[in-house]
Amino acid sequence: MQVHLKTLGCRLNEAELETWAHAFQADGDRIVGSTREADVVVLNSCAVTHEAVRKSRQAIRRIHRENPTAKLVVSGCYATLNPEEAARSLGVDLIIDNRDKTRLVELTKARLNIENMPSLSTEPAAVALFSRGRQRAFVKVQDGCRYRCTFCIVTVARGEERSRTIEEVVNEVNRLYEQGILEVILTGVHLGGYGSDLGTDLSRLITAVLSKTDIPRLRLGSLEPWELPESFFRLFENPRFMPHLHLPLQSGSDRILRRMARRCNTADFAGLIEQARDAVPDINVTTDIIVGFPGETENDWESALSYIERIGFGHIHIFSYSVREGTKAAGMPDQVPAAVKKQRSRQLHELAYVMKQERMKAGLGWTFQVLVEGRPSIDADGSPLYFGYTPNYMRVALPAPEDQSLENQIRTVRLKSISECGSYLLGALSDSDEAVSSFLPMT
Ligand code: SF4
Repeated sequence: MQVHLKTLGCRLNEAELETWAHAFQADGDRIVGSTREADVVVLNSCAVTHEAVRKSRQAIRRIHRENPTAKLVVSGCYATLNPEEAARSLGVDLIIDNRDKTRLVELTKARLNIENMPSLSTEPAAVALFSRGRQRAFVKVQDGCRYRCTFCIVTVARGEERSRTIEEVVNEVNRLYEQGILEVILTGVHLGGYGSDLGTDLSRLITAVLSKTDIPRLRLGSLEPWELPESFFRLFENPRFMPHLHLPLQSGSDRILRRMARRCNTADFAGLIEQARDAVPDINVTTDIIVGFPGETENDWESALSYIERIGFGHIHIFSYSVREGTKAAGMPDQVPAAVKKQRSRQLHELAYVMKQERMKAGLGWTFQVLVEGRPSIDADGSPLYFGYTPNYMRVALPAPEDQSLENQIRTVRLKSISECGSYLLGALSDSDEAVSSFLPMT
């Protein structure tokens, strides 16, 4: 998909554009320099003055005039403060409220039904899943993959597995922490294979990072659900290792998993989840599912859906299967018609939404340490709200206190309710709150 991004207004709007550009690219999309070349145009609007509002309206009209066939997504302050007026403007397909800005790429794809398979399998999902920012950084620890999943282009594009040494990774994490980063996400194309070329493994890497750095929060990116090192779950005894795992299942049907040449069947996956939940009770398990893989019959789909429901996920990253030249699946018979994929995708989005609500409900009344992200966003009532994530990666909003900044701090937050839109939790600073770790200015 070709995406053109435009912004009006403040530096914050510009910075957001950059984050979205990374996330679209990581999802396999191309950023283009003009409206005319784009399939999707995203406008980050502004409402700081009457003039800014006028320019926002004008920009919407101009985009539509220049490319009436492109999908137009409008976010930012003008769209948030005047959603109905913006939605009525010619050509606007989707309004994204400021509160949902960090999920703009995901929401654009889900709501406009244009989600595509990522061009590389596991890595982009991790990038799309985790928001970046001045408080969180990705550290890539390995590249390449020894497997040959039939939908994945990784082995063609990235070759054999190569890992960075533990020392290199530790040094990078120390450097990031000195620069003010409070949370590091270790990523890799086949993260579970870390160290196979160096005679070490992922557990040893995590142990070294936890003991040789002071990074307050360490997380893992997407991890294939097999061959986890022995005693892996014991690592979560260290509270700096965040209780969240993104384990891409890809399908809930064994027949389809075989066609995908995955190394894990539904029984193995269920066993792994049971082990994880026994060892780490508040662990949040999230996943990727490909909908409409070649040969996926109605029976396969029904059994997949009930399996996914039985396992229960805090979040599902849903991809409609799309042919990727150079992969084995591209030449498979029985490609699923687009309308069927669309309908299955919608069904799974609905189930994922319900499961996410359950996951969030389970957190209500509890107190968590939340890593508060950048400056506050303004909600629909005009009140400033900070956003952040709990250790198990639940998104939380909390009212900005008048007398202090919470930006880039880890604070103790009590979870009180679920937001009206159902996509995040609302919390408040707990009575026992104090800043666990202050933000050091970026150098
Ligand atoms: S395990 Fe499969 S999906 Fe994951 S990177 Fe390797 S080939 Fe791709």
